[in-house]
Amino acid sequence: MIVLIDTHAHLDFPKFKNDLDKVLGRARQAGVEAIINAGADQRSSKNSVALSRKYPQVGASVGIHPHSAAEVGGSWMDELASLAGSDTVLAVGEMGLDYYRNLSPREDQEKVFREQLRLACRVDKPAIIHSRDAHEETLRILKEEELPSRVGVMHCFSGDRRLAGDFLDLGFYISLAGPLTYPKSHALRDLLHYIPEDRLLFETDAPYLSPQAYRGKRNEPAYVKLVYERAALTLGQDLEKLAEQVYINAVRLFSDQLVDRI
Ligand SMILES: [Zn+2]
Ligand SMILES: [Zn+2]
Repeated sequence: MIVLIDTHAHLDFPKFKNDLDKVLGRARQAGVEAIINAGADQRSSKNSVALSRKYPQVGASVGIHPHSAAEVGGSWMDELASLAGSDTVLAVGEMGLDYYRNLSPREDQEKVFREQLRLACRVDKPAIIHSRDAHEETLRILKEEELPSRVGVMHCFSGDRRLAGDFLDLGFYISLAGPLTYPKSHALRDLLHYIPEDRLLFETDAPYLSPQAYRGKRNEPAYVKLVYERAALTLGQDLEKLAEQVYINAVRLFSDQLVDRI
């Protein structure tokens, strides 16, 4: 049987409020045996941990998305740190910079990003990095800060080959999402030939970024299979073999606890 892992989803978001059990049922049917649920703000991080306690196949990450960097309360780091220590929390993030929408001032984004990197080091859990239209700045900060021992993942990576190389050099994994299936995403598919197979991950970023077949509709973890399939096609590789490798990668990055969840 082919085991798939969705390394980045937002199941705590309101779009899944009414049918999460069905969504998880369809994921399991598609072979998605583990899902990392990424926190996006203080409340979402709390809910992420709650989901990981309720559903054995869900591992949590806790963090503040750059969009929410300006909204954090005074004790946000204490709250996040206490969540990050939980045994079902496998990573810290998503964290990073988003200069595309600039929903938080850049200074706030940078400060909250740096503090989360330091938290990831303290709890020794990998960092999940969000970078949009801010790759050079993200890279600069990652080079300046200390990184956790297992480093982390560039989630929904959208940079070019040179940038991928820079993040790989720092020890990051590269995770690709639904855009891999879009007709115009030639550069992204080319990147597949460049990323070492032991540093590759896949994700949905559900409810966002649905693969081509579901574009415009809500994304969900079951659809990560379409990302795997497109990658296997591009690489001329057997889906089962690719899935096996990506599974090993995910376990190496997110720890053996992921195995307990499968
Ligand atoms: Zn993101
Ligand atoms: Zn996300």
